[in-house]
Amino acid sequence: MPPPTILFPAGSPQAKETFQDYRRRGGYRALALALGRGKPASIIEEIQAAGLAGRGGARFPASRKMALCAQAEGEQKYVVVNGGEDEPGSFKDRTLLECVPHAVLEGVLLAAYAVGASKAFFYTNETYAEARRRIDQALAEATAAGLLGEGILGTRFSLAVESRPAPTPYVAGEDTAALESLEGKPPLPRQKPPYPVTAGLFGKPTLVHNVETLANLPPIILNGAAWFRSFGTAESPGTMLYSINVEWQRPGVYELPYGAREGELIEELAGGLKDGARLRAILPGGPSSAFLLPDPDRRLSPESLQAAGSNIGCGVMRGYAEGTCMVEAALEIARFFEKECCGQCPACRMETSMLANTLDKARQGQVARQALEQIPRVLEFNKGKGFCSLIGMPGPPLVSALRLFPEDFESHLKTGQCPFK
Ligand code: SF4
Repeated sequence: MPPPTILFPAGSPQAKETFQDYRRRGGYRALALALGRGKPASIIEEIQAAGLAGRGGARFPASRKMALCAQAEGEQKYVVVNGGEDEPGSFKDRTLLECVPHAVLEGVLLAAYAVGASKAFFYTNETYAEARRRIDQALAEATAAGLLGEGILGTRFSLAVESRPAPTPYVAGEDTAALESLEGKPPLPRQKPPYPVTAGLFGKPTLVHNVETLANLPPIILNGAAWFRSFGTAESPGTMLYSINVEWQRPGVYELPYGAREGELIEELAGGLKDGARLRAILPGGPSSAFLLPDPDRRLSPESLQAAGSNIGCGVMRGYAEGTCMVEAALEIARFFEKECCGQCPACRMETSMLANTLDKARQGQVARQALEQIPRVLEFNKGKGFCSLIGMPGPPLVSALRLFPEDFESHLKTGQCPFK
């Protein structure tokens, strides 16, 4: 029996849903219900009762952001749909926008009504041509049906929505960098506070939510918090979308309730690694999470992965086959963050460059072990010294690689050669 799901009726996207299909399965009934009640605060209360956490990686309570934005002073407020999705290997937001754009749009309408926003922006990765086409189509269909624009469904609630491209540097997906980009400036993270909920787009209160977070709002409002809590675990209700990439037998996006077994995702759904290769390690939350040894019985939940020393991030599950050199794998990640550091903060510039250099020299056997032992100290010293969280991101993968695969590092340090080549 397929696992119960919330966002994709069949667990993984089967087809691009039309406006009519979405209406047939109850689409826009949550909006009608909320507008009929006439109490924007009740949306936030329901989301709070549901315990929905943001799905962009930081897991901030969705209702808390909404409440802060709703309470913020200001006539003009905005909602931004963050579909920058610059995390390497992540494509679940693109999939949602391509397959169920009306579900995301209904989430935007509910969020805007809840916080008192009259304008919203889809901020979508500029390389996602099909997703952006589907958003434009959904906006036109919803407008024609009286679900968008002035006096929605005959009420006094109005919302204008624009679709804008998101540049592709990694930091462009950071919430405040998204706001800078929407203001026509380079997509660089802002120093915080102030946070977007009080001073966001053009200095106005702005709710920035990830695509997947917003797609969860309609089913919660329609079916209630108790129904939502029947999925997942007590600490982390609901489901999570996982991006399964080409190293696996069956790449795709899969939806599983929190607390599902790791084996259910990587063996039963993803089919294991390609060509039957044996798994050496996983990186369960993308490049800013820690490597773990595979354990098919481990539960996929934020709490369980944290207890194991890693994090669930935005659900990019990478797999590394037996025979993969973990020095090379760690170096690839260090180089990624060195390249993606935007350069605004001296500590981040120095740290990311030092990490990539040290690992590259270790790979060639040109440094002593003590150089690697400095890495955790450098990371600790720089904690919180950047405008955004990128400065802390190389830490978990690098430190865990050093801890879990010391033999790979020893071999490189001693011989300057890769033990797997
Ligand atoms: S922490 Fe790094 S990536 Fe973030 S703003 Fe500072 S320099 Fe840029």
